Amino acid sequence: MNDLLPKDSPAWQYLESTVQDILARYGYGEIRFPILESTHLFKRGIGEATDIIEKEMYTFDDRSGDSLSLRPEGTASCVRACEQHGLLYNQTQRLWYQGPMFRYERPQKGRLRQFHQIGVETFGFGGPDIEAELITLLARLWRELGIADSVTLQINTLGTSEARHAYRSDLVAYLESHKEQLDEDSQRRLTTNPLRILDSKSESTQRLLNDAPVLNDYLSDESVAHFDELKALLDAAGVSYVVNSRLVRGLDYYSNTVFEWVTTHLGAQGTVCAGGRYDGLVEQLGGKPTTAFGCAMGMERLVLLLAELHVLPKGLEQDVDVYITALDGGDLSVKKHAFGIAEQLRASLPSVRIVSHCGGGSFKNQLKRADKSGADIAVIIGETELEAGVVNIKSLRKDSPQQTISLDELPAYLKAELS
Ligand code: ATP
Ligand code: MG
Repeated sequence: MNDLLPKDSPAWQYLESTVQDILARYGYGEIRFPILESTHLFKRGIGEATDIIEKEMYTFDDRSGDSLSLRPEGTASCVRACEQHGLLYNQTQRLWYQGPMFRYERPQKGRLRQFHQIGVETFGFGGPDIEAELITLLARLWRELGIADSVTLQINTLGTSEARHAYRSDLVAYLESHKEQLDEDSQRRLTTNPLRILDSKSESTQRLLNDAPVLNDYLSDESVAHFDELKALLDAAGVSYVVNSRLVRGLDYYSNTVFEWVTTHLGAQGTVCAGGRYDGLVEQLGGKPTTAFGCAMGMERLVLLLAELHVLPKGLEQDVDVYITALDGGDLSVKKHAFGIAEQLRASLPSVRIVSHCGGGSFKNQLKRADKSGADIAVIIGETELEAGVVNIKSLRKDSPQQTISLDELPAYLKAELS
């Protein structure tokens, strides 16, 4: 679980605001829900046999003995919140959320135990049009972030749950008969979650899969038509993609369309955004059958990628512009005066970053602090300046002589100097 230090915050703020801006432009609204939920919600929503539920959840009993879990993802919570507040009744929704998620994983680059996602969920849209809309929104996001050339879109269709069931038994029968060639994880998954074997990293397992039955042959005409329309819409929008028939995703609730945006720039943790259709989940969680499509992006991986590709805009770390020193002779008058000037400047120059010196000390010491703050200009105020209604201006970055400016002219002077 990482701390985020002030030097890292500007990149995060830039990423978050860019994503939020694009979501707003497409008409998506923000929803916030708690970090803790009843464990039951995730077990029912995500599926007992998934990695998340089997081994990644932070679960504990609270003081009344109720089992709670830190949310490992947002989708189940989002559905719970929407149901609870009647947002899915006779209406459609385009929603997003952001925040920390928690999974007990082996920490490594791009894989943390507390990580952050921005998730997007839509409800009440059953067709490929919403899928194309969300994927196109993401393509625009990557373009605006300057990483479009470094991420690839992979798409696949998992078909309906009936198709998957038929496929699953044939796949299991085939793999059972070659069980000794499967890696250990895949052998375990044979009984718990066999479709996950398709995206196993083991080479021998992947070789074995070359001759395995393929899900494509089990799809209903309807699923095929749905997927074809999605591809046509993406073509029309100029969004390129790769069909990866082994893309299955880790969670149980997906059906038909699934997708991932992958990069080769981050090593093994290359998926920066993943999602799909989950028409069965709302009902599974106790609601009326409701179509749903969504995704989540991994913010740590995106921040890493922005840094790796050197596409963060310059000047994100906003230094201080003006540092105001106050040299009082022991009474409060200069301090009060300087304090008032700082507040007036903040009112008249809202885009200028102004720091007031706190903690007293010698003139030399205050100027040292001013320099260290990164400010361009020090405004020097002492008893003489107070009496004369002026301030002294020292340029901290340019080699220009100190100047005396009247209080009336100060805002205009600073504005001109800093522009
Ligand atoms: P992976 O295969 O990498 O474990 P996942 O299928 O478990 O991913 P999802 O549950 O789909 O991941 O979450 C969506 C995105 O959130 C991922 O594509 C990734 O960018 C990010 N993510 C997931 N788990 C972590 C983690 N432990 N640390 C950092 N980012 C993560
Ligand atoms: Mg995972």
